[in-house]
Amino acid sequence: MSQAPVVTRFAPSPTGALHIGGARTALFNYLFARHHGGQFLLRIEDTDKARSSAENTQAILDGLNWLGLDWDGEPLSQASRADRHIEVAHELLAKGAAFKCFSTQDDIEAFRESARAEGKSTMFRSPWRDVEAADHPDAPFTVRIKAPQSGSTTISDAVQGDVTWKNDQLDDMILLRSDGTPVYMLAVVVDDFDMGITHVIRGDDHLANAFRQSLIYTAMGWDLPVYAHIPLIFGPDGKKLSKRHGATGAAEYQMMGYPAAGMRNYLTRLGWSHGDDEFFTDAQAIEWFGLDGIGKAPARFDFKKLENICGLHNAATDDAALLHEIEAFLHATDAPALTEAQRDGMSRGMYCLKERAKTFPDLLEKAHFILTSRPITPDDKAAKHLNDVSRGILSELTPHLQNVSWSRDALEDAVAQLAAAHETKLGKLAGPLRSVLAGRAVSPSVFDMMLVIGREETIGRLTDATG
Ligand code: GLU
Repeated sequence: MSQAPVVTRFAPSPTGALHIGGARTALFNYLFARHHGGQFLLRIEDTDKARSSAENTQAILDGLNWLGLDWDGEPLSQASRADRHIEVAHELLAKGAAFKCFSTQDDIEAFRESARAEGKSTMFRSPWRDVEAADHPDAPFTVRIKAPQSGSTTISDAVQGDVTWKNDQLDDMILLRSDGTPVYMLAVVVDDFDMGITHVIRGDDHLANAFRQSLIYTAMGWDLPVYAHIPLIFGPDGKKLSKRHGATGAAEYQMMGYPAAGMRNYLTRLGWSHGDDEFFTDAQAIEWFGLDGIGKAPARFDFKKLENICGLHNAATDDAALLHEIEAFLHATDAPALTEAQRDGMSRGMYCLKERAKTFPDLLEKAHFILTSRPITPDDKAAKHLNDVSRGILSELTPHLQNVSWSRDALEDAVAQLAAAHETKLGKLAGPLRSVLAGRAVSPSVFDMMLVIGREETIGRLTDATG
């Protein structure tokens, strides 16, 4: 039997920026679709006009773009499809699977009050459910679905397993409000059906909705999609991830200079696993991803792990691509762009800058020796390595560097000989030399710096510092 091609979707409500949890949901949908050679669609759930905004939509698209989660086709606006949602509600009415309810807010309140007084369930049961059209008043009405009142509904969730809900807990939910507008729950189902969504992968805060949504599928005679409700993300303390734990917006991580590849890798691991693999490429993630790897327990956001994975990705990224990302980061954070000379220096030095740099600011700090210009002013930490003795020793290095071949071996020899002449260790000279070349206590090795900035600049900096 041939299987329908996989179609997934990310359906954010543009009531805020892209949250880390949303980004992970999008990523799982993206990976699942790409793994199966299917489609990953985007639907903006903008029916709540008061809370939705074009700025938020843009911020979500920007966040997805930053993460490299390219969707197929154009994003679909849910609000633009209201007519179709209404049409389906009328179809359900015509089928007798929904009914017109003339109860007013006051009627519903009175129902609840008396139910409370009698200690019964306050779930509203409309008296209009079985009333013939001929007996309908000429008054405003809502359209409600006829939910089954006995038995149970089971959803086979790809993550949660079989989940069963007693039908007497399901109300005859409203499909169209008394002003004729469709409710969100109807819109989601109609859109998922019309978009041909085969797999709904989303946060498990939507699990209860799945039961109510399944009523509409069943009433319309539509096949249910495969549901996969993923546990929410927790903070390190086991409570739902919130601002108390640290940044929760995807854009905040972009602004802090985390590489998108590292972020993708870390978010993929957050609630999904493939053996013990922690570090992997995008191609591996696509190859390995499946719903069976998603855990049932909430994953905890581990900031240290994120940093480590990001560091590994920086080190593994191609030099030119990394430089490109750093320039995009500078642009996004309104920092000055690199000059031509700085870019050349970064290009030459990238091989050593990218080692052990977790974020772009870390990397740029290591690149200080390239980005700065003579005369170098050492910061307080670096300045501690410089005194008359160390300056005196270093001043003897300059003549040696005039003629030495500019290779790592030759430079190491020159510095080792100087150390030997002063009966000291090479390591003892590294601090002062670092200070002179970079003005910082943290930098690539002194030999890497010399190789990157070249003979003339090295001698210039030594001369500046040793007089
Ligand atoms: N718009 C919903 C949200 O942002 C998602 C609905 C869904 O995935 O079905 O939480």
